[in-house]
Amino acid sequence: MLKAKQLSYAYSELAPALENISFTIDKSQMLGIIGPNGGGKSTLLKLIVGLLPMQTGTLEFNEKPLSQTALAYIPQSQELNDSLPMRVSDFLELIPKKASRSLDECLDRVGILDKKNDLMRELSGGQRQRALLARALRCSPEILILDEPTTGLDGQGQDQLMQLLKSLQHEEKTTIVVVDHNLGQVLKHADKVLCLNKSHHWHESKELLTKNIIEDIYHCEFEHIRLHEAGATFDDHHHECQHDHSHEHDGEGKKDA
Ligand code: ADP
Ligand code: MG
Repeated sequence: MLKAKQLSYAYSELAPALENISFTIDKSQMLGIIGPNGGGKSTLLKLIVGLLPMQTGTLEFNEKPLSQTALAYIPQSQELNDSLPMRVSDFLELIPKKASRSLDECLDRVGILDKKNDLMRELSGGQRQRALLARALRCSPEILILDEPTTGLDGQGQDQLMQLLKSLQHEEKTTIVVVDHNLGQVLKHADKVLCLNKSHHWHESKELLTKNIIEDIYHCEFEHIRLHEAGATFDDHHHECQHDHSHEHDGEGKKDA
């Protein structure tokens, strides 16, 4: 299992980004992370991946430090240099370690083998995410960590990508940690949910998530939130809240004017 205990991280002394965050997920479960902008979601992923140094707390996978675990990380809004005419196949060769799986096998796994000789810049948003995923799969990760992979995709594209992650989780026993703004997608596909706003967090099986918990984490009210039914949604209101209430305890929850 993946176990985080009492994690804290501060970029500077005055501004802790994470305080005392703990959670566990079983091997080959999917953890969905939601929370307002600036709530520390990307920071948490970078700590897991080792891109930020551990300050306090512990992280382990199956009782070993994460440094001994095969991880793959797909960062937020991956920037690709589109001026370079890079083919999908070239892109999949850009991996830090020796690949344990072939390029074709990984492209096939994510359903874009027919795009192998296309230019990266010609891919649609969904295909591009699949190419990133295919590259991540080349090293057979035990844990796959994705930061807002569905951003910019339409509803169907989001659903397809999440379904693909789900199939990796079940068929290859990959443990998945995914940050996603779309609560509906998280509730549909993740096993556990981590709601995160700096020190404030809630973590449990998704069945236990309530409207109150979400409002508490976002520090605002959601009028039209629907949970635990097909097509659970946030109302549009939450975009507004993210700007006004990303900082903890800096005022009352937003009331509808
Ligand atoms: P989220 O992904 O939930 O939007 P982040 O983890 O990106 O949140 O950011 C958490 C907090 O840490 C924010 O207040 C952000 O401004 C701050 N932060 C993020 N990256 C850096 C950095 N490299 N240096 C200083 N502060 C940062
Ligand atoms: Mg982020």
